[in-house]
Amino acid sequence: MIAPKQPKPAAFLDRDGVLNLDIGYAHRPDQISWVVGAKAAVQLLNQRGYWVFVVTNQAGIARGLYDQKAVNDLHLWMASEMRQAGAVIDDFRFAAFHPDFDDGRFSAQSDWRKPGPGMILDLQAHWPVIQDGSFLIGDRDSDVAAAKAADLPGFLFDGDDLLATIKNILRQLDSASVAVESPDNRHK
Ligand SMILES: [Mg+2]
Repeated sequence: MIAPKQPKPAAFLDRDGVLNLDIGYAHRPDQISWVVGAKAAVQLLNQRGYWVFVVTNQAGIARGLYDQKAVNDLHLWMASEMRQAGAVIDDFRFAAFHPDFDDGRFSAQSDWRKPGPGMILDLQAHWPVIQDGSFLIGDRDSDVAAAKAADLPGFLFDGDDLLATIKNILRQLDSASVAVESPDNRHK
């Protein structure tokens, strides 16, 4: 018997430009340069009791630049690199669809492409995610829009230091929940 997984809030991370430098259509390990603080940031999220999910637009598939297997293989490699650093990515979703290039193969998942919320909603359907405290971080407006469409706070990353940025976000979310729970705010 497998014990049911305990519900936790989730950190939804964009991939390119958040975990690794965005060189455009990376699909092999030798194209991945980790962003400063990326592995430590994921480790911190693990320690703070978050599911860590990656949600990434991969229109390179619809464009025929690489296939789904290449993306799955790359994600296995990224997860293993993380694990060697003591960090766990719990799951990945990628959106192969692109409205201008898709030949119909991926149109059923058109809302998976950010700014659509599909990848986030699918992860929430497969994992016990607590909405309160959950958030998304990305480097584009479309990331933040996807978060908004899934009714989650979305944060823009400036590409500098992911650990420092995540610490900041967790502080903000903590103080927001304290403000809601504080008796002083009950009558406001
Ligand atoms: Mg990005």
